[in-house]
Amino acid sequence: MDAAQTTKTVRTTCAYCGVGCGILATPQPDGSVAIQGDPDHPANFGRLCSKGSALGETLGLDGRLLHPTIDGERASWDEALGRVAETFSRTIAEHGPDSVAFYVSGQLLTEDYYVANKLMKGFIGSGNIDTNSRLCMASSVAGHRRAFGSDTVPGTYEDLEQADLVVLVGSNLAWCHPVIYQRLAAAKAERPQLQVVLIDPRRTMTADIADMHLAIASDGDTALFSGLLRHLAAVGAVDQSYVEAYTDGFEEVIGAVGQMTVAQVAEATGLKPHAIASFYELFARTEKVVTVYSQGVNQSVQGTDKVNAIINCHLATGRIGRPGMGPFSITGQPNAMGGREVGGMANMLAAHMAIEDAGHRRIVQDFWASPTIADKPGLKAVEMFQAVADGRIKAIWIMGTNPVVSMPDADAVAQALGQCPFVVVSDVVAKTDTMAYAHVALPAAAWGEKDGTVTNSERRISRQRPFLPLPGEARPDWAIVTEIARRMGFDAAFAYQSPAEIFDEHARLSAEANAGTRDFDIGALAGLDRAAFDTLSPVQWPQPATGEKATADTRFFAEGRFYHPDRRARFVAPAQTDLQSQTPGEAKTLLLNTGRVRDHWHTMTRTGLSARLSAHIAEPYAELHPKDAERLGVNEADLVTVASDRGEAILRVLVSERQKPGSVFVPMHWTSQNSAKGRVDALIDAATDPISGQPGLKSTAVTLRRFAAAWYGFAVTAKRPVTNGLDYFSLARAERGFRLEAAVAAELDDPTALAERLMGVARSAILSYHDVSGGAYRFAAFDGERLLGAFWLSRSPVIVSRSWASERLGAEHLARDRFRLLAGRGGADRPDPGATVCSCFSVGVNEITAAVVSGKAVTVGAIGELLKAGSNCGSCRSEIKGIIDGVELKHSA
Ligand code: SF4
Repeated sequence: MDAAQTTKTVRTTCAYCGVGCGILATPQPDGSVAIQGDPDHPANFGRLCSKGSALGETLGLDGRLLHPTIDGERASWDEALGRVAETFSRTIAEHGPDSVAFYVSGQLLTEDYYVANKLMKGFIGSGNIDTNSRLCMASSVAGHRRAFGSDTVPGTYEDLEQADLVVLVGSNLAWCHPVIYQRLAAAKAERPQLQVVLIDPRRTMTADIADMHLAIASDGDTALFSGLLRHLAAVGAVDQSYVEAYTDGFEEVIGAVGQMTVAQVAEATGLKPHAIASFYELFARTEKVVTVYSQGVNQSVQGTDKVNAIINCHLATGRIGRPGMGPFSITGQPNAMGGREVGGMANMLAAHMAIEDAGHRRIVQDFWASPTIADKPGLKAVEMFQAVADGRIKAIWIMGTNPVVSMPDADAVAQALGQCPFVVVSDVVAKTDTMAYAHVALPAAAWGEKDGTVTNSERRISRQRPFLPLPGEARPDWAIVTEIARRMGFDAAFAYQSPAEIFDEHARLSAEANAGTRDFDIGALAGLDRAAFDTLSPVQWPQPATGEKATADTRFFAEGRFYHPDRRARFVAPAQTDLQSQTPGEAKTLLLNTGRVRDHWHTMTRTGLSARLSAHIAEPYAELHPKDAERLGVNEADLVTVASDRGEAILRVLVSERQKPGSVFVPMHWTSQNSAKGRVDALIDAATDPISGQPGLKSTAVTLRRFAAAWYGFAVTAKRPVTNGLDYFSLARAERGFRLEAAVAAELDDPTALAERLMGVARSAILSYHDVSGGAYRFAAFDGERLLGAFWLSRSPVIVSRSWASERLGAEHLARDRFRLLAGRGGADRPDPGATVCSCFSVGVNEITAAVVSGKAVTVGAIGELLKAGSNCGSCRSEIKGIIDGVELKHSA
């Protein structure tokens, strides 16, 4: 299609989380793109969250990689592809197939993933392709395979709406899967008897719809669900007929966990016995239960056992595969599921076949007519970068991901790439922390330009369709991979002309020698021509060519038919050592938990382009319970150094009752591109779950101490500020420029020199105010009536309204206003709206608080009517409720 010409609405799928919302994208004559939720898409029925709604603001070419480079110099595609193919071929010839690796991404489309996996496993002959989904849901995959014999998500999103009890384990739906949260919240509003239990060390925003919050100790989940299994058995809640007909291993597991008392569970989980008993009784007496789990379960060195402990409870009660019940793993990325389907993980083959199974290997090799097939699992993500470090891997191709930020022990990953003989990075962004190590950089297509399919958390395959032309010399990932494969001598097997042809092959392989023996079968979707592929509607698998196709009511395992050879499920006993909860240990003071914020995605290469999204949380932070803040002698808005045995980060303190005492939460999004020391994964040990290989990202022992800043600064600048000489900075987009938080540890001989450098203007052009004894410096520079930059320096954290200051970049500055600007005051006619709560309508916390205090609006709905906040995507409704509750609490105290 000629996307360059279209101003027609294109149906596509969101670029971000595993909910997989349908989107209507309409390019506008002025070059912008209008984004709406697709009312006909069964994942979201028109809803979008703040991130999805703002996708149109992330499509500019600022920062895009637009042409290939070799050793940092512009190169032609021919030169770059030739260098990659020749170096990989030579390395394999000299050192064997296991000397090379691909590290890919849940951002890839299924077709991209399919050809990358085919090249590595079937033609290079190594298992060394792994994905950043390893960091996200590998433990769920491993748990599913142990229990079901296949990586099957049995249920659908509708189950959450139809359940009478939804248990959320380690899952902050409100921020991480907001449209599922909205669907659940709407179902609960309609049917208040629907009970929600949140199991999470933090009282996240999701707690606002929870009837019960269990603030579990880190890694206490295995003990909690093992104790639940024992309780279910003790009170006669086990479905004996289901267990006998369809499962194996129940008696052994009961033998292993049968002695666990509530007191022991309380010790392992840090929960009160009566709270545990209430949860157990509620679970036991409620037939329609869905247990949703995501990163809080998966990102653990006990992740697979946690998953199986949850699944055990559903198998024991037969609550699986029927409407409103089942275990439900929700994926983080838009196409983590698609990657699993094509075998994009080092320990899987393709089409959900097993690499350890000789029969499966033969099916795949015959189907591909490939010269070889990997006969053992490859290196999983953490092992892969360790092999880069010790020289076993000599050439690595990283596609669409940023491991120097997102991998545990991230500094070691950077060091490994720095000494790797050959690093290829294909990405949409020219400057990332990982791109800095690329010998060859390949410009890839971005969302809006890509053409293919993704699969969401409920097994629904949707099309991503292009509505923008490929910019510069960018190419789709599938086209780059297949061209490399052809140049490596595999012409015939990679002669695809379109993603439709790849999808067709993927569909045919899923049906090959299947006949119902494997869960993943989309044989009915084989043979689609380009037109049919273009118009493919969202569809859930399985879709076998013959036999029962999935409908809205299709779920797996209500009547057994699991995928172990005997078609029976397995109960899995957790290892005994797993029944211990984590504590920081004597030398450390806190357990570090990492995760996401509401309005940013991964390493912010896209959401960081939106000023609106950046306004919600503009800085990396360390969230502490008030008791810990007091114990450690730090205050709200202080800067602190958080350190582990691996590394350290400098972060802003956020004091919150939502945090569990003894722990600290730090978001994972900040990089070296936008912060001085905000890469929190540099602190995380590379320890992994022994079965899934997924790293534990949520329980690192750390120390925390106040960062002794001599000066704190805040700046708004029209151009990207220069950050040299700052010990701390955090850079975010503002409308028409940037906003910068800063600090320096040493005394400043010449503060004006810092302002000069930072704002990029000559000293003579700077208007300044100095209060040496009071410890305050203020600087501003103008081009006519337009502000080029303003910079406030202070001995304590700068008190200037960030939203007001950011707005000054677009305002006219007449002479009389300039001193008000230096003073950092907006004037009575411009009250400070406070930190942004509603990104859609830029409504701040102070505005919402004022509405509640005045009595003009005291419900979330009334706030929506008065200020519009929360009335569009709804992602901020839980925060608005929190503000209302906070005001009410203060007034009733
Ligand atoms: Fe995108 Fe938000 Fe939907 Fe996730 S919930 S797919 S981020 S719109």
